[in-house]
Amino acid sequence: MKKVLITGAAGFIGSHLCDRFIKEGFYVVGIDSFLTGSPDNIAHLIGNEKFKFIKYDVTNFIYIPDEIDIILHFACPASPVDYLNHPIHTMKVDSIGTINTLGLAKAKKARYIFASTSEIYGDPQVHPQPETYWGNVNSIGPRSVYDEAKRFSEALTMAYYRKHNLDTRIVRIFNTYGPRMRMNDGRVVPNFITQALKNEPITVYGDGTQTRSFCYVDDLIGGIFKISLAENLAGEVINLGNPEEYKIIDFAQIIKELTDSKSPIVFKPLPQDDPKQRKPDITLARGKLGWQPKVNLKEGLKRMIEYFRGRIGL
Ligand code: UDP
Repeated sequence: MKKVLITGAAGFIGSHLCDRFIKEGFYVVGIDSFLTGSPDNIAHLIGNEKFKFIKYDVTNFIYIPDEIDIILHFACPASPVDYLNHPIHTMKVDSIGTINTLGLAKAKKARYIFASTSEIYGDPQVHPQPETYWGNVNSIGPRSVYDEAKRFSEALTMAYYRKHNLDTRIVRIFNTYGPRMRMNDGRVVPNFITQALKNEPITVYGDGTQTRSFCYVDDLIGGIFKISLAENLAGEVINLGNPEEYKIIDFAQIIKELTDSKSPIVFKPLPQDDPKQRKPDITLARGKLGWQPKVNLKEGLKRMIEYFRGRIGL
């Protein structure tokens, strides 16, 4: 049985990855410090003979006795609110944590998948964003703790690929939503759905003309799974996301309609360096993996709304 190590295993995306690899017959070692992840996300896996959980912070030296075939480094706060609350730890997990997991991959001769982000493109001046775009990041702005740590981790990953011939793959993940996001993680999808379900004001930051493109978690997991298993992808960098682009103000309206909510829409200040537009160019993923998202926005949001209704008890 192949063995996979997933850091950030109790996070939103990490926990879905654990489920997928176990379902496909892999043995999964999951690591999480619970800084932003939650035991609830993996409670159903405890006792599963194909799953071992280690509560641990990967910024410390990692000792794993087992053989490991694939390492997926997914630990890191990912919501702007979370990484602004934990700026130093965000930088440590995507610098020291990346070195530790890359070192482990080298020792185990494992394939290495790094969870990067569309944030490495910063406030992009090229639209949509292809992998060849170098980005437009403010290195000393508040978001830099996340953006620069992810960029540094990309550089580290490529250094291990070039210097040690490690089989590395970088996944640049664009905005993703779905069950197991924390209701209070501060990102736009959980915020708007929670506000709409409670008939509280929906908080649009700025004038709402900034855009985002939202990918349902099942689609994303399918793409990461393909990237993890495909042959001949060493050294590759691949965008994963849904290219359907929405203005945030229109997105608020869609949530209002889907939840049949009486919430007013209110405008709040735009956070500093909030990217004005974002949409993945997924030509590479389509060509190399035969991957593209299947779940459209309204369908995905309906599933997410049902999940949140259950959590809120409505
Ligand atoms: N946003 C908003 N209201 C909220 C939360 C977020 O208008 O309550 C906006 C935010 O300013 C950004 C977009 O929604 O333009 C997406 O924000 P999110 O925090 O989900 O992630 P980002 O894509 O900025 O990393």
